[in-house]
Amino acid sequence: MAAERFAVAVVGGGHNGLVAAAYCARAGLRTVLVERRDVIGGATLSQPIWPGYTVSVASYVCSLLDPRIVADLDLPAFGYQAYRKDPASFTPLADGRSLLLGADDQDNAREVRAFDERDVAGLHAFEAEATRLGSLLFESFADPEPSFAAFDDATQATLRGSAAEFVERYVRTPVLQATLATDGLIGTNAGPRAPGTAYVLAHHYAGRALGVQGAWGFVRGGMGAVSAAIAGAARAHGAEVRAGVPVERIALRDGRASCLELRDGSVIEADAILVSADPQTTFLRLLERDAVPPALYAKARDWSANGVSFKLNLALGELPNFSARPGTLEQPHHRATIHVAPSIDYLQTAYSDAQTQGISREPMLECFMQTPTDPSLAPSGKHILSVFAQYFPYTRSDRPWHSEDRAAIADLIVATLARYAPNIPGAIEHRQMLAPPDLEALIGLPGGHIFHGELLPGQIYEDRFPLRTGIDGLYLCGSGTHPGGCVSGFPGRRAATAAIGDLAVGVL
Ligand SMILES: Cc1cc2nc3c(=O)[nH]c(=O)nc-3n(C[C@H](O)[C@H](O)[C@H](O)COP(=O)(O)OP(=O)(O)OC[C@H]3O[C@@H](n4cnc5c(N)ncnc54)[C@H](O)[C@@H]3O)c2cc1C
Repeated sequence: MAAERFAVAVVGGGHNGLVAAAYCARAGLRTVLVERRDVIGGATLSQPIWPGYTVSVASYVCSLLDPRIVADLDLPAFGYQAYRKDPASFTPLADGRSLLLGADDQDNAREVRAFDERDVAGLHAFEAEATRLGSLLFESFADPEPSFAAFDDATQATLRGSAAEFVERYVRTPVLQATLATDGLIGTNAGPRAPGTAYVLAHHYAGRALGVQGAWGFVRGGMGAVSAAIAGAARAHGAEVRAGVPVERIALRDGRASCLELRDGSVIEADAILVSADPQTTFLRLLERDAVPPALYAKARDWSANGVSFKLNLALGELPNFSARPGTLEQPHHRATIHVAPSIDYLQTAYSDAQTQGISREPMLECFMQTPTDPSLAPSGKHILSVFAQYFPYTRSDRPWHSEDRAAIADLIVATLARYAPNIPGAIEHRQMLAPPDLEALIGLPGGHIFHGELLPGQIYEDRFPLRTGIDGLYLCGSGTHPGGCVSGFPGRRAATAAIGDLAVGVL
């Protein structure tokens, strides 16, 4: 079979691979993208899991997508539309109280005052500092040579600290502390008192997709609409986007990456190869061992990527009826991120339980419902409750995963939610359960790690994988490179910029 020839070949059709392909095609380079699965999007995917429903299978909210990418690729012309989630968070308590926070300072003050007057000013000061840090991070996300060491000492010290320490500096109400600290724990195999979780928190304040530093929102049509829009832009610029095409091997010729060997036996030759598969897949599986620089091989082997997040998608026949804010008719809190996070101690126990028992017996939960603001995603009157739960490690401390664990954990999560909204168990019509081993099998995330590896100091900035791999012609363009995970597009854009530059000056 004759090899096809392209200027650029991209491995993996997650949103970062798509961004890379779109930029390369836009630069006039003949570009092909090949995705292993039959669907594109990777972890940024909507699927009709149940009849009449469109489910954001993995990621569900958006903040970090780089506005420059949205503008450069004219994503709104391809159907991308994000809107702010407001209120932002709702945290019910078992005693019937609750905390609802959103965009309005006066509403927030009223909510916080009901717990502790002093925290009104504290929350304000926290938000100012978190958005300042988020803004600093955003400004460094496109850096070709990212350097954590370039931050001033005080900033580095804060980011190397724990999420708990950070929030406790500003506020004292346990439910407020826990609500704010959860941003430091998402996807992370660490408790709220672990060093570096303040960085994860700040990372979640880095986004500007909604036009407000640190604000989060939904994408109309679900997260798959992000990938579909980028793919649309890539195709419009002439890129070929092919799904159902697993790459078996990246082959070198004369020391440089020269072609992709596909499972069907065919070969794609390219001047530049950009890989958005995670670093472990790339360096431990797709390349021959002797082709990988030893330091990179060791880094991939030792990479920390023990995913702890369990995704439970539920179809509900009615909205949750929270004891703290009763009613099944839509109310503002139904549009917010619904947290089960009553205190830092609760979150710490959720983590330490997993160390001693294998899984959290009382998990931290983050739940989202887009259907109140985008009813097109479900049949009339029905809703999707998307639950993100921790800690359920891929490598358990007690024993390996058993297939019946999924249902037991889903039941545990539902029982936890039922303490706050007792109608949920009876409202469930369908459920999709994704434990870390399922995220690995389905989406191809080794260890089921949602960010292609921890986003803690030691694995960020100069310590993440370099986009230039040290193998001529081979670039990393996925979340394994700076600035790491989340739906941001930065890794894809950075790698495309480097490859386009190298091709232009004839380095390749
Ligand atoms: C459950 C979950 C919830 C999340 N929630 C959010 C959220 O709400 N907001 C947010 O911003 N982020 C969230 N994230 C993180 C975010 O989704 C990811 O960081 C991001 O989507 C990763 O994008 P990527 O393009 O770098 O990689 P991926 O999306 O992982 O794409 C890599 C692609 O490469 C393909 N591939 C791998 N090997 C091969 C091969 N040999 N041949 C061809 N193709 C291959 C894979 O199939 C995959 O499609 C979540 C992630 C998960 C899993």
